[in-house]
Amino acid sequence: MSKRFENRNVLVTGGTRGIGRAIVERFAAEGANVAFTYRSSREEADALIASLTGQGFKAKAFQADAADFTAAETAINEVVTDWGSIDVVVNNAGITRDGLMLRMSQDDFDAVVGTNLKSVFNYAKAAYRPMMKQRSGRIVNMSSVVGVMGNPGQTNYAASKAGIIGFSKSLAKELGARGVTVNVVAPGYVETDMTGALSDAAREAMLGAVPVGRPASPDDIASAVLFLASDEASYITGHVLHVDGGLAM
Ligand code: NAD
Repeated sequence: MSKRFENRNVLVTGGTRGIGRAIVERFAAEGANVAFTYRSSREEADALIASLTGQGFKAKAFQADAADFTAAETAINEVVTDWGSIDVVVNNAGITRDGLMLRMSQDDFDAVVGTNLKSVFNYAKAAYRPMMKQRSGRIVNMSSVVGVMGNPGQTNYAASKAGIIGFSKSLAKELGARGVTVNVVAPGYVETDMTGALSDAAREAMLGAVPVGRPASPDDIASAVLFLASDEASYITGHVLHVDGGLAM
């Protein structure tokens, strides 16, 4: 039986750890050629490439700050040149710089919006022409339950993640007739380095509000991303898929 993403070319931003890494590994296991970006974690990127190619998968890594448009163009163009098409873009890279408004600096706001939201514009814009020409493509953007519900101390993060939803719905309307879908995954509490920084009290309070009573694993989120990127999801666009154990009902 052929694999779900056989001969598909996928690019994932922020692929070296956490949710991004799970997405990269799942796409590769399901037959895709996978490119991923990273900002500074060269050793982790090299180790991931070695692991993927060691298993016989085709893979590429790009050192690229997600907020940098030229780097996005370079990465997408190289995938198209070397592998022939860009079929799936997953905008996963994201950071937090939390703090109550009283203490939040302009730099905290700009850094989070630049990395989390401008990056989605960058990679969607770079993939736009090749996907239009192919008349097919999948763009999956990583939002958050915080972009839907808000969270004190995360005005910058919430703005970036809510912005991703508006951006994705608008682009979905622009690209629908071209065979390109644009969807959003909104995770709740996922156990990664990002949430590892939370205090035990914050973690318990968050988990107490999750109806399924456990945190998500990176794999729970990857499953939703792969579904939205698959042929089975061809009639779904502009959708926000909540993968949060029921947190945002
Ligand atoms: P993480 O901190 O473990 O990993 C983030 C990844 O993004 C890393 O690979 C990092 O290298 C990359 N990255 C960060 N800044 C970058 C930049 N400027 N350029 C390129 N890459 C960059 O975080 P995670 O928990 O795996 O989060 C992945 C995505 O999921 C983020 O967009 C995050 O906002 C979102 N999310 C996470 C949770 C959670 O509970 N962990 C919940 C909702 C949404």
